[in-house]
This record gives sequence, structure tokens and C-alpha cells, in this order.
Amino acid sequence: MIKKKRNYKEDSSESGISKDKGFDRDSWKPKTELGKKVKNGDISTIDYILDRGLPLLEPQIVDMLLPGLQVDLLEVGQSKGKFGGGKRSIWRQTQKKTKEGNKPSFATLAVCGDGNGYVGIGFGKAKETVPAREKATRMAKLNIIKIKRGCGSWECGCGQAHSIPFTVDGKCSSALFKLMPAPKGTKLCTEREAQKILRFAGIKDVYGKARGQTRTKLNVMYACFDALKQLSKVKTKERHIQKLGIVGGRNE
Ligand SMILES: [Zn+2]
Repeated sequence: MIKKKRNYKEDSSESGISKDKGFDRDSWKPKTELGKKVKNGDISTIDYILDRGLPLLEPQIVDMLLPGLQVDLLEVGQSKGKFGGGKRSIWRQTQKKTKEGNKPSFATLAVCGDGNGYVGIGFGKAKETVPAREKATRMAKLNIIKIKRGCGSWECGCGQAHSIPFTVDGKCSSALFKLMPAPKGTKLCTEREAQKILRFAGIKDVYGKARGQTRTKLNVMYACFDALKQLSKVKTKERHIQKLGIVGGRNE
């Protein structure tokens, strides 16, 4: 087999943001029962699907029910560099050694959210960059979750949904991530890539802390997402909901 030299730089531009073609409702042919119901208009909110835990298998459902959805890629890999590592890049490039030569593959992590209570992350890996990005985007949409927001900061106590209602811990492998409520004006006081996830989720003020093997960015991002999941798992009472101004999902 002849060794082919491909130009990988072509698509590994720093932006990596998929050009939004705009979701075309008419050309979408739903394959699942749920998709058909969404297209007919029987289901008009994503809460109906998420609250019941219905199987979400088509990314177009999310496109349709959350109009302002944005997608971005997180910098989980690094480009080649001399003297111990290069610049951070959105592609994690790995190689398999074979008889024919090195077979490279690309992996990336996409984040999607509407900036108002809904967020998802997804992993994609392929031999080329473009299919990897498409896979990641698709998985991010299918992994979408609803988060709870509120104001749990004792310094603030305004009762508006600009932060999170209580401290949560997330974990993935040896990476640990902690999110704490912060008063108004703090902004996202945490690791740079995690800020993207939190911004897409619609959180404005928060303190964050990453511990453990934080050099594995992929796991840190999963840990941050896990922490956001924990917000919904903690049991809240009616008086807490009023006192902390807890809002699940969209805020107005
Ligand atoms: Zn507040």
C-alpha cells in the first residue's frame, strides 16, 4: 500500500465552529416515533422528552425544539510541538502503528447549548477531522440535559437564577470538578474550557475548581458536565426552591 500524505492542516483551523446552515424543517424525514410526533407538533417542548426519559435518537429533534442552539468544539488535544508539547488544539490526534505505516485518527469534544438552561457534550472520533466533528456534534445534541439554576451564594442572596443553588461535585476517572455558587459580578471563575460549557448552560456567576489529573482535559470536561448533572439529582424542598430561586431549564 502506498503511503498517502494528506494535508491535515486543512481543516484544523482554530475556529472549528460548524457553520450554522440553519435547520431545515421540511427536508427532515423523521425515522423514530418520537421524531414523527415532534414534526407533527404533538410534542412542543423538550421538557416533555427529558422529564419522561424518552429515547432521544435523532439530533434534529433537539434542533427543532431548541431554536437558539449553538455548537462549539472544546480544546481537548494539543498540536505537535518541540520541547515538551505544543499549543492546545481542538483535535486530539492519535496514531496506530501498522505494517503500512502510521494510521492517524482525530478525536474532539463538542458542546452544545442554548445559553438558557440546556447543555450537552459529545465525543467524536474518526480518521478525518470533518466526520469527527459531525459525530461529536450529533452526540452533543443527543446528550442534552436540563440544569437547575438559582442563587445559593450567602454574599448575594438575591434569589435570581444567575448562579447555581448549591455546591456540586463532578467526577470522571481521576479528574474531579467542583462548582460553587458565586455572587453577582463574579463571572465564570474557573478553567478556560470549562467556562465554555458553563456559558452554554446559561450560568453567569460561579466559582469552579478542578482537582486530580487535570492535564487530561477530556476528563476534566466530562467531570464539569457531571457536576452540572448533579444539580438535578439533589433533592430540593419547596421552601428551598423559593429561597434560592431555583429554576429548572429555561428562565422565562
Ligand atoms: Zn444572587
